[in-house]
Amino acid sequence: MKNEYESKLYQTAFPLKDAYNALQMPVYTSVAFEFESAEAIESAFVGQSAAPTYSRISNPTVLYFENRVRNITGAGSVTALNSGMAAISNTFIALAFAGANIVTSRHLFGNTYSFLNSTLRDFDVEARFCDMNNPTEVKSCIDSNTCALFLEIITNPQLEIVDLKKLSAVAREMGVPLIADTTVVPFCAFDAKQFGVDIELVSSTKYISGGATSVGGLIVDYGTYDWQKSKKLRSLAEKFGKLAFTVKMKKEIHRNLGAYMTPQVASQQTSGLETLSLRFFRAAASCLKLAEELSECKEIVSVNYPGLPDNPHYKTSNAQFGAYPGAMLTFDLPSREHCFAFLNRLKLIKRATNLFDNKSLAIHPESTIYGTFPAEERKKMNISPTTIRLSVGLENPDELLDDLKQSLYG
Ligand SMILES: *Cc1c(COP(=O)(O)O)cnc(C)c1O
Repeated sequence: MKNEYESKLYQTAFPLKDAYNALQMPVYTSVAFEFESAEAIESAFVGQSAAPTYSRISNPTVLYFENRVRNITGAGSVTALNSGMAAISNTFIALAFAGANIVTSRHLFGNTYSFLNSTLRDFDVEARFCDMNNPTEVKSCIDSNTCALFLEIITNPQLEIVDLKKLSAVAREMGVPLIADTTVVPFCAFDAKQFGVDIELVSSTKYISGGATSVGGLIVDYGTYDWQKSKKLRSLAEKFGKLAFTVKMKKEIHRNLGAYMTPQVASQQTSGLETLSLRFFRAAASCLKLAEELSECKEIVSVNYPGLPDNPHYKTSNAQFGAYPGAMLTFDLPSREHCFAFLNRLKLIKRATNLFDNKSLAIHPESTIYGTFPAEERKKMNISPTTIRLSVGLENPDELLDDLKQSLYG
């Protein structure tokens, strides 16, 4: 765990003294905020004061949540939006332009893949898919129109891991920002900045929400990239330096796309942050234990969890995420029929999508998340009909193992 993480978690002061000395940041459900004078409202509108004006743009409860995340991560700025997909789409809309390309891997969360490969393509932005573990291939995909190098720190459901120090060296050499979706290992266990990530994108729906309470997303900008190198943000960089992306995001993109987080969600997710490391380390330790136990089961063809020493990504995983690379594992059964029969016998574990709820969830990705993808595309994405994905929750791990075993043996 990162130093000081736990104490920092509780140390973000309210910007103003609360009238009742509340210990929780109040939920400000107001759409608009009144000003004492024409001069005061002018200065809020032109950005000279940080006073909130309208809740699509900013809101005190959401600002407080953003500040807490900034405090924990040491980021330059944080923007909270109403889903992980909003964080991803707002970021790429801020960076991309007609004729631009984004260099990434084919192994992406389904909607991210579709956003990059379909939605942005209609605006003449190209997604270039390459093997992120092959620096020569990555370099050869980057050119003067590349606006970002993007990856997921542990891909889902393949559980592939890239050596981020190597990849960030490529990003620096080629002058492109490194953007990472870090949803699978939250900031209590992974220090993205230390591995050269310039912008971290997080679906806070997952661990941070506190047990699937609400949908949300975070853009965490470390202020480490030199935006003078960006074709699109160069002129902003002349004025705002390393804050150019934040200015573009806060002053234009998120206001125009209208996907700001709501105060109710920010309040739930602020509470979620307070128990994040407790929940994460409990779930991840159970996941490692289950991965070890399942590896011994004869009914299982193979278990995939990067925290197992015989996993091909184990060394990189350990260097980047320590002993607990997330609370998701996959395993393969002899056939698709075995997978369906296994799922139908589960009693404690829920058949559901989503990751990192407090409850354990199992799904057959090929027939669900990727169910409408053409077979050829599924193959390129390494989605197998024999794979089960398990997201491990906070139940007693022995009871989870019993449920898995009774469902395997039938
Ligand atoms: C869930 C998820 C997303 C999308 O987040 P939403 O909050 O559902 O929009 C993006 N990336 C990863 C890795 C995810 O697991």
